[in-house]
Amino acid sequence: MVIVGAGPAGLAAGIAARKCGLRAVILEKGESAGPLPRGEGIHRYPLLDEVLGMDFWEKDCYRMDCSVVYHSPNDLHTTRKQGTRDIFFFEWRRLIERLVDSAQKAGVEIIYNAEVLGPIEGNDNSCRGLRYRFEQKDERLIYGKAVLACDGYNSVLGRHYGIDYRTINCPMVKCIADNTPVLSSSEPDLQFYLIGSGDLSYAPDIPPCVVYAFPIGGRKMELGLMLRMGKDAPKGVRIPDPKELMTVWGHLKKDYPGFSRYFQGAQIEYEYATAMSNARMVKEVVPARGIVLIGDSAGFVDPFGSSGIYSGIAMATFWVNLLAGGMRRGPGTFWGKKEIGNYLRSFRHSGICRHINKSYARVGIFEWYLYRYLRTAKHINRRWGMIKKLLSLA
Ligand SMILES: Cc1cc2nc3c(=O)[nH]c(=O)nc-3n(C[C@H](O)[C@H](O)[C@H](O)COP(=O)(O)OP(=O)(O)OC[C@H]3O[C@@H](n4cnc5c(N)ncnc54)[C@H](O)[C@@H]3O)c2cc1C
Repeated sequence: MVIVGAGPAGLAAGIAARKCGLRAVILEKGESAGPLPRGEGIHRYPLLDEVLGMDFWEKDCYRMDCSVVYHSPNDLHTTRKQGTRDIFFFEWRRLIERLVDSAQKAGVEIIYNAEVLGPIEGNDNSCRGLRYRFEQKDERLIYGKAVLACDGYNSVLGRHYGIDYRTINCPMVKCIADNTPVLSSSEPDLQFYLIGSGDLSYAPDIPPCVVYAFPIGGRKMELGLMLRMGKDAPKGVRIPDPKELMTVWGHLKKDYPGFSRYFQGAQIEYEYATAMSNARMVKEVVPARGIVLIGDSAGFVDPFGSSGIYSGIAMATFWVNLLAGGMRRGPGTFWGKKEIGNYLRSFRHSGICRHINKSYARVGIFEWYLYRYLRTAKHINRRWGMIKKLLSLA
């Protein structure tokens, strides 16, 4: 199996492939695996115990038993939703190190500084392998029985097959701050501030958005901004470029009601503009024979909790097992039309896929009501009672 990207999905795919007795090669464009920090919070699942090790939770995580608090625009009202499961916060680097360690122990080959440029295509447009640039110099080829595109929210392979990631991604800002006024042990809840369309005088035509504040241990917090690009976001909005997004972020930090308090006296460790592929799933996870889009490159993120680490790992493991089963049945029947239909049917009926689809449907209803029907701060605040009910059912 040739796997693109050593993020959570790619590393899990490599581990699963080795467990099935297959040779697995990961091409990673960075000098190290998962070079940029992304998600740093997860729930615990048995599959994560397997790939991260049972002691990850005790050794590398800060465990939170917390609720979620939603704030109406301008922080006029709040509603609390009781948490049902512990959340574990960790540093991205620790998660990646654990996965790399498991991958290496399993015998996965990881080639760093290997930037994938595109597929090697057969006459029938099937994907036979990949072209990649090694150490920014020479171009190389690699062939495989299956290619797994785990190259994240702006996948070069997804784009090659015509996916427009502007419709899949939600632009966002991620920030880690220490020395905030919030002590995690006394204010453990996750805070979400909902902002309607046109509510920010300094950026009236950007999509509706959410800012969030998560205490992650001591006085440390993860803070962020996410533009909501769901299919029911109002038409005619403009997607700001990263520079403009950072300017909006600067305003929110300075004076957004309720939210700006987290920055008083805080030391910003880092903040940067990025995106998360949680607006919708791509339609074709098998865009051609021989290749599957996995994890963020497929928009396979639970949009309700904005969690893509577990779903990416679960999707990768599921597809590797499916393909390994296909390989065992024989090379002639491995990537046939009928077989692809069967893989896709199994995937659609899998627990993880049903969960993600359901979550997108629930978020869709909620965002239609909030951002399409009510739209502005005035209307959202007036109907907060209804929003409370919807959130309690979600
Ligand atoms: C700010 C933020 C906060 C988040 N918070 C959470 C959270 O709390 N909990 C949660 O579960 N999820 C969270 N997520 C989502 C989660 O981080 C992602 O869903 C998850 O990282 C997806 O894993 P992946 O392996 O599919 O992609 P990625 O983690 O993006 O990994 C892709 C890998 O591919 C490599 N790559 C890219 N292009 C190429 C190329 N051309 N050639 C070779 N290699 C390439 C990259 O360098 C990278 O290593 C968050 C995301 C963001 C952005």
